[in-house]
Amino acid sequence: MTHPFSVQAGVLQIGGVDLRRLAARAGHTPFYVYDRSLVDARIRALRQTLPHGIELHYSIKANPMPAMVHHLAARLDGFDVASAGEMMLALDAGTRPERIGFAGPGKSHDELRRAVAAGVVIHIESATQLRLVTALGWEFGVRPCVAIRVNPDFQIGKGGMRMGGGAAPFGVDASLVPALLLELARQEVAFAGFHVFWGSQCLHAPTIIQAHRQSAELVMRLADNLEVPPAFINLGGGFGIPYFPGEDPLDFDAVGEAMHDWLPGLHRRLPGTRVVLELGRYLVGEAGIYVCRVVDRKVSCGETFLITDGGLHHHLAASGNFGQVLRRNYPVLIGNRLDEPAQERSHVVGCLCTPLDRIADGAHLPATSIGDLVVVLQSGAYGRSASPTDFLAHPPPAEMLV
Ligand SMILES: *Cc1c(COP(=O)(O)O)cnc(C)c1O
Repeated sequence: MTHPFSVQAGVLQIGGVDLRRLAARAGHTPFYVYDRSLVDARIRALRQTLPHGIELHYSIKANPMPAMVHHLAARLDGFDVASAGEMMLALDAGTRPERIGFAGPGKSHDELRRAVAAGVVIHIESATQLRLVTALGWEFGVRPCVAIRVNPDFQIGKGGMRMGGGAAPFGVDASLVPALLLELARQEVAFAGFHVFWGSQCLHAPTIIQAHRQSAELVMRLADNLEVPPAFINLGGGFGIPYFPGEDPLDFDAVGEAMHDWLPGLHRRLPGTRVVLELGRYLVGEAGIYVCRVVDRKVSCGETFLITDGGLHHHLAASGNFGQVLRRNYPVLIGNRLDEPAQERSHVVGCLCTPLDRIADGAHLPATSIGDLVVVLQSGAYGRSASPTDFLAHPPPAEMLV
């Protein structure tokens, strides 16, 4: 697989630093390392392609490493958080509360209390959440700022993790939003906008374009119930990155071009309304790698196994256990043998006592020895924080932003 990193004398370089030096700096394998220049390049490309004024938010759950959140705080327009812990990460990075959207179907009373106190935008996902927030507003003598997360009444055709077009724990059904808006108008809350999240990990530009158009139409319809246009609409993101053989990168230029077409219509209907996209993996996924070390090599029934000190406790997604239906290999390299041709077919596994702990099945790799560094690409999102690090009581992986 092609990758965005440079190579020197057969060794992968991340942010200009030699992989072996990074292993020494981490103090141990396994570790994650993220290249900030790749994140910045992605943001620049987005800003160049998207119509002027489109706001970019980062969905912290993709990678909550505080240094990453801090890095992004200076470069993006806001954050989407889904817990009080994520909210604190965004606030700690110096983000103004009105730039933070707090979504999530199960916000606890304590979380809502902290969110109202902090003044972030609370994305209401049920009538109960609105009641709790209203009561907290009375208690604190403030007008909480709220948005409505809409469960879209359309479903998008293809790819990724689809949402919308049916029963869901997320958001308020589009058909119930007018009644909720009436209720909201009677309460001491400030209504800021709508949030439509229609899906994730989509590599098919026409699908994203259709989702954007339909989300915009849905929001314009809902906004007919308002006296003034909402301050913002958040159209979700859904931009995917290629993980598996045969997957092509998203044609992002097509998405941007289509936006230039439909955005003026939206601005005419809703003058002054800001348009927000919330992105997770598209911003950070390709900028990160997971690195573990080969600690043993053995042959069983004629097949070669490379056993590493890593595994699913650090990188659940690469093991195929984070929502994959058919297990496929994440792209894997031997990071210190990039000038050597593939010579063997081996199974790269983790160190846990479970057959689920696989990193790459039947990978074509150079002749690999104990001590070599296995690199899993496309690991900057849904890596460490989406993994069961307590499982089997091994130490957690280090994380570095270079
Ligand atoms: C997880 C999530 C995202 C980010 O998804 P990616 O696939 O990482 O881009 C965006 N919005 C909401 C509401 C989410 O829950």
